[in-house]
Amino acid sequence: MENKKRTSPEPSRRVYLDYAATTPVDPGVLAAMLPYFNEKAGNASEVHSFGTEARVAIEEARSKVAEALGASHKEIIFTSCATESINLAHKGLVETINNQQSTINKTKPHIITTSIEHKAVIETCKHLEKLGWAEVTYLPVDSTGLIAVDQIEKAIRPETVLISIMYVNNEVGTIQPIEQIGQLLKSINNKQLTINNRRIYFHTDATQAIQYLDCDVNRLGVDLMSLTGHKFHAPKGIGALYVRQGIKLVRQQDGGGQESNRRAGTENVPYIVGLGEAIKVAQAQITNHKSQITRLRDRVIEGVLKIHGTRLTGPKDKRAPHIASFVIEGVEGEAILLLLNEYGVAASTGSACTAGDLNPSHVLTAMGFKPEESHGSLRFSLGKGTTEEEIDYVIKILPEVVGKIREIAPKLGDSV
Ligand code: PLP
Repeated sequence: MENKKRTSPEPSRRVYLDYAATTPVDPGVLAAMLPYFNEKAGNASEVHSFGTEARVAIEEARSKVAEALGASHKEIIFTSCATESINLAHKGLVETINNQQSTINKTKPHIITTSIEHKAVIETCKHLEKLGWAEVTYLPVDSTGLIAVDQIEKAIRPETVLISIMYVNNEVGTIQPIEQIGQLLKSINNKQLTINNRRIYFHTDATQAIQYLDCDVNRLGVDLMSLTGHKFHAPKGIGALYVRQGIKLVRQQDGGGQESNRRAGTENVPYIVGLGEAIKVAQAQITNHKSQITRLRDRVIEGVLKIHGTRLTGPKDKRAPHIASFVIEGVEGEAILLLLNEYGVAASTGSACTAGDLNPSHVLTAMGFKPEESHGSLRFSLGKGTTEEEIDYVIKILPEVVGKIREIAPKLGDSV
């Protein structure tokens, strides 16, 4: 029997390769936030100096977010996370359109989205269908998770009011042709507006894109864009929604008049300050980090694909710099995560939101993977803290981790 030297798990080592699930708060971001927890803890709705101090901080943060998106100040709404932004964009728009229609000529608003969106989009769309408020088309994708622009064009109906396509897929990193879709909609809207004064709105979930890709809303031609702070080194619990000027959304949270009557509730000043600072830092570092992280991601891909029975999921080229995702034959994703954890490595199987869910990933299923293939999915996601040495360590231990699991897993064809 071959006597291979094995690496022992190193409990003291901690390698974080789950940046697509969440990122640590940047120290500069934390420092900017801290005064707003105590000495500058005013309520921004109050007229005294504490209130105005908070108001100024919120509006400065709004300007930073607007600047990063090439938007204007008034077009940014602060929310608690991308999920809330997505809910507000979809439900708010559908409700506005339903309210605008006369009861006699009422048609059900139609939404076009993809079958690989985050659950925040899919479940929101399903909810609207269940209420009978909208009809939804979930477009298929190819084997790399890419949507075809001409498919979108074919799916458009006279009642189509919204197209919602994610910028970067969180499980496999596929980058969608958002700018091309934006151009298509621009030409369709130009024609439609002159014929019947209707237009189709365009939402993108840019949650996984903001750190690495150009998110200029005018260049992309999007009308609504959702973001969440914790994916780019702001804290969890703060998000933003870009809403192109002139678009009316029925607010989904009733109460006070905050956020220009579009999102009630006392503003979370320290977190809003953190979001503004984080987006500024992310934009300033985009070029540097993008090339460094892309290089490390490609090393991971090269290393993992040397193990037999592994396949890359998602495209080779049109993928986000920080996501390297695979399916590994003969292993369960959960088992590999647990063993990797013993070696000090944090990774993920599909999205954090579906972890613990035994159903195969809806993203991999839509890409044509069989359930038994999807169960062996593994995602490493990198960030600005990732080092070359960490990647070398992961590439070194992974064959052993996979080998150990394959040794104990029932062989294919074994009776159950
Ligand atoms: N959209 C995408 C693409 C995501 O990756 C996530 C988080 O995993 C979300 C939306 C939801 O973000 P949050 O949970 O912060 O609302």
